[in-house]
Amino acid sequence: MRVTTAFKRLLRLPGVNVVSVDFRPAAVVVTVALRRRRLVCPCCAYSTRARYDTRPVDSSWRHLDLGAWRLEVRAGLRRLACPTHGVRTEGVPFARTGSDFTADFEDLVGFLATTTDKTAVCRLVRIDWDTVGRIISRVMDTGLDPGRLEGLFQIGVDEVAWRKGHRYLTLVSDHRRRRFVWGAEGRDTATLDGFFDELGTERSAAIEAVSMDMGPAYARSVATQGHAPQAVICYDPFHVVALATRALDTVRRQVWQELRQLPDQQVARRFKGARWALLKNPPDLTDAQAATLRKLRRRGGELWRAYTLKEALREVFAGDLGEQDVALLLDRFCSKASRSRLKPFVTLAETIRKHRGGILAAVRLGVNNARHEGLNARVRLITKRAYGFHSAKAALALIMLTLGPVEHVLPHERTAGFP
Ligand SMILES: [Zn+2]
Repeated sequence: MRVTTAFKRLLRLPGVNVVSVDFRPAAVVVTVALRRRRLVCPCCAYSTRARYDTRPVDSSWRHLDLGAWRLEVRAGLRRLACPTHGVRTEGVPFARTGSDFTADFEDLVGFLATTTDKTAVCRLVRIDWDTVGRIISRVMDTGLDPGRLEGLFQIGVDEVAWRKGHRYLTLVSDHRRRRFVWGAEGRDTATLDGFFDELGTERSAAIEAVSMDMGPAYARSVATQGHAPQAVICYDPFHVVALATRALDTVRRQVWQELRQLPDQQVARRFKGARWALLKNPPDLTDAQAATLRKLRRRGGELWRAYTLKEALREVFAGDLGEQDVALLLDRFCSKASRSRLKPFVTLAETIRKHRGGILAAVRLGVNNARHEGLNARVRLITKRAYGFHSAKAALALIMLTLGPVEHVLPHERTAGFP
């Protein structure tokens, strides 16, 4: 078998013939020629036989490594004049538009980025993390299930920080299928407007319930005519409990500040370690944290009162209680919190009263629960890794490719057997 034929089988690049194979010190360079005569616009389906000109230099793409060798694919490309996009270099069937990597290589990176850590991906494929970010952004553009916006009835809207310094993404999840279906940079009304624009009026009219946090921005977008004003707004118990945790943390900081003024600094120092003992759920505590908690209990005072309030609220939603029971317990919690003389909890009680209807709707429709919380916990883990990215789109791609409607197909899984 000739070397070029062997490499054509080995590389499995669609639509090309191998012209030559060249072993260089750093890489194997394979020059290919497109089999098709027609020129195809890289941005749309337009194709033509008319060439505008030929690019003076070859284009190149990195393909899957050949053992320890890097493999570079080269091809001389032509340009065409697309009536929509103007003069463009023709698209190739083996790489995504604007990429210096073959689609096979990018699919591999997409799979690795969602299943292993940053260091492993970068070392294994020998590219930096921002390049990984650009690659997975392209994989997301072409790889998400196009039917993901169909059949949405109950959805959740969440904001997640993707980078330090208040950089946020808005994510829309499908409660029924437990996956994210849409995302964009930002967290205001206009951000969510973008989702409804894409969904269109007909599909928006089918939405029955939207769960969200208690801020006004998302609710305003949902209520807009043409969006989903018919939908019941649900305030996720997950967010309600998160507010209580935040109130507790505020009380803890105040108490600590007071302790720091005391002449005996020993107390303040011991107290500093109490943060996680207070904020974690009791079953998740380490032995040391449980001991700290017992000490705080003996000490009593404001902090212990705040802790018991937070735990009481968490337990309202921890069980499988129905709407009526939750309503009763929630009202009982609010009157206790209002009388607690702890300002953050007085404020919390007001917030809960104001959003009572939406909180109970979440319980009634079951759009709250642990599943959704699980999705949120996974997002937080992913965004921790995404912190290294410099673009919101890359962070979004990491989330969507991990928790969205996408099926990763690796190059060797694409067709059965070896050709
Ligand atoms: Zn075009």
